Amino acid sequence: MSTVSDSVPVVIIGAGPAGLLLAHLLDLEGVESVLLEVRSAEYVMGRIRAGVLESSTVELLDGAGVGDRLRREGMEHRGIHLQWPEERHHLDFVDLVGRSVWIYGQTEVTKDLMQAREAAGQESHYEVSSVSLHGLESDRPSVRFVDSDGVRREIVARAVAGCDGFHGPSRPAIPDRVQQIWEHGYPYSWLGILADVAPSTDELIYAWHPDGFALHSMRSDAVSRLYLQVDADDDIANWSDDRIWTALATRLGDGQHGWHLTPGPVLDKGILPMRSFVATPMRHGRLFLAGDAAHVVPPTGAKGLNLAAADVALLSRALAEWLRDGRTELADAYSDTALRRVWRCTHFSWWMTNMLHRQGDDFDAQLQLAQLRWVARSDAAAAALAENYAGLPIGY
Ligand SMILES: Cc1cc2nc3c(=O)[nH]c(=O)nc-3n(C[C@H](O)[C@H](O)[C@H](O)COP(=O)(O)OP(=O)(O)OC[C@H]3O[C@@H](n4cnc5c(N)ncnc54)[C@H](O)[C@@H]3O)c2cc1C
Repeated sequence: MSTVSDSVPVVIIGAGPAGLLLAHLLDLEGVESVLLEVRSAEYVMGRIRAGVLESSTVELLDGAGVGDRLRREGMEHRGIHLQWPEERHHLDFVDLVGRSVWIYGQTEVTKDLMQAREAAGQESHYEVSSVSLHGLESDRPSVRFVDSDGVRREIVARAVAGCDGFHGPSRPAIPDRVQQIWEHGYPYSWLGILADVAPSTDELIYAWHPDGFALHSMRSDAVSRLYLQVDADDDIANWSDDRIWTALATRLGDGQHGWHLTPGPVLDKGILPMRSFVATPMRHGRLFLAGDAAHVVPPTGAKGLNLAAADVALLSRALAEWLRDGRTELADAYSDTALRRVWRCTHFSWWMTNMLHRQGDDFDAQLQLAQLRWVARSDAAAAALAENYAGLPIGY
């Protein structure tokens, strides 16, 4: 098998939200890139994951010219409902901090960004294999891979962006001697369903319940997304659709103050593990990590996709100033700047998770309830939640 060599300013590994958005932002800055993705475009587009966009992500997508469909088809939410047995409180983020959130699925963000990539006419390779990174500490790093036709290729770049998620090859390419891993596990997971039924709520319901946490989210006016706290080692085979809907009805308070949960056909279901994970630094030589490649948060604070977007907003500017204009300050500061927001969101996601998930003993439950009541009744506490949930500025 022969090797085809090429060169380009930036190679981006991974076409998830981080990689696709970085490719688009670099294109707007006039910086060319090649995008590599191990899966097919259809697979990436169909992957059901996040769905809440914070205000800074919406502004970023708008500013990058990929916010039109989001504005037309997305749902703007002023806040969330916070609930425990017999009580439901609405936190109005717009009143509290002047910012809202938008419901627009990761699948839709991905579609919009893939279209923008296609319109830019820049090189993308899907269904690649054997991706490896080389010479990261040199001026000419390269990425080797086998393309979908089985041709072995090598692309020499000035910078490599590792946007390949938690399991990709970029983070492991950083030597152990310079990388530090910060990790926290949780003794529970989320069972998530996508249901072909109109949401039973106008805005998301986050529910604390003695049986465990539940969340009523949605993807559109016609499709609901709901979650249940389950044991970390639980098996989806233990959960029939009936059992899921019964548990959701109990935990979300069906019948409470006249509210009812409407069940419907389950389109998709699965169990997602919960972890907090940060790898530092986010840059090594000419490799820059962004998104889940560098950090993972439990989904309770709806931060995963938003953090990925914030990383690449910083990274695109840093790479453009460096590769186009020869100024290295932002690239040199990238890891420290991005990590400020990463740690803030890591704390917020951990805090929301600990407040809402049943764990520990009855004493712990009373502390959780005391905290929930405080958030619901104190404007200062509610504003702190709202400020983090609706999104801190990109360069926080
Ligand atoms: C199952 C699941 C459910 C989730 N649900 C929610 C949710 O409900 N709410 C929420 O806020 N967040 C959720 N998240 C988190 C959110 O989806 C992520 O934070 C977000 O996708 C991060 O984007 P990313 O581009 O950094 O990484 P990813 O989306 O993981 O994208 C990385 C890309 O790199 C590709 N890749 C991997 N290896 C290679 C390789 N060797 N070569 C080339 N490409 C490669 C992958 O195929 C993938 O397309 C969920 C995550 C998962 C895994």
